[in-house]
Amino acid sequence: MGRIPAQYENQRVGIMGYRVLDLDLDGVCADYRGAIADYLARTRGLDPRTFGTNDSYNFYTAPGWPIRNNAEYLAVHRAAEAEHLYATMRPIPGAPEALRRLAAEHVYIRIVTHRLFVSGQHRAVVSDTAAWLDANGIPYMSLCFTGLKDSIGATVHIDDSPGNVAVLRAAGQHVVVFDQPYNRAVPGPRMLDWSDAAVDSLLEWFERWPSDAAVAGA
Ligand SMILES: [Mg+2]
Repeated sequence: MGRIPAQYENQRVGIMGYRVLDLDLDGVCADYRGAIADYLARTRGLDPRTFGTNDSYNFYTAPGWPIRNNAEYLAVHRAAEAEHLYATMRPIPGAPEALRRLAAEHVYIRIVTHRLFVSGQHRAVVSDTAAWLDANGIPYMSLCFTGLKDSIGATVHIDDSPGNVAVLRAAGQHVVVFDQPYNRAVPGPRMLDWSDAAVDSLLEWFERWPSDAAVAGA
């Protein structure tokens, strides 16, 4: 059993953890909205360029999306999930490379995702998620399926959901907002992308959490 390096003593999590990154997948590492758009285009014969904006986190309140309410959204999600969208979706540009760099910099990557929010297809969701992470060469030490993100502490969390950011901050956690059109009103720190410059800033924030609303990225 190793020791926690002295410079990380103030980042201790649990007995042996330090510099722990709780990492969301959808909207941060994986292009979930793009995959849903692809599914709608393919199954309904629609042009995804007509789908409008991503100004709202919920598809059915974002103008232009052909989804009327939460029940329709869940039906679309379930059908796309059954067709293995979690195994096939595109990564957010640069995410796999950036995460390999973070792992090489001794950041402990713990993936925390709410993907089991619809019951009945959990075996496929878990299996497809692990297959996707392997296929994209994304390193991680833990894979947690929970929507209760504030139940798992970390040195830094990265999330795109305004609701998750609020809950985590209310629990006293440090959260970096991963930039998406629907979270622009949420205060930073914020990563605009997975560029080297953004990862440089993230590593600095592990050392010293910024007191102002810092922004990192291209
Ligand atoms: Mg997300």
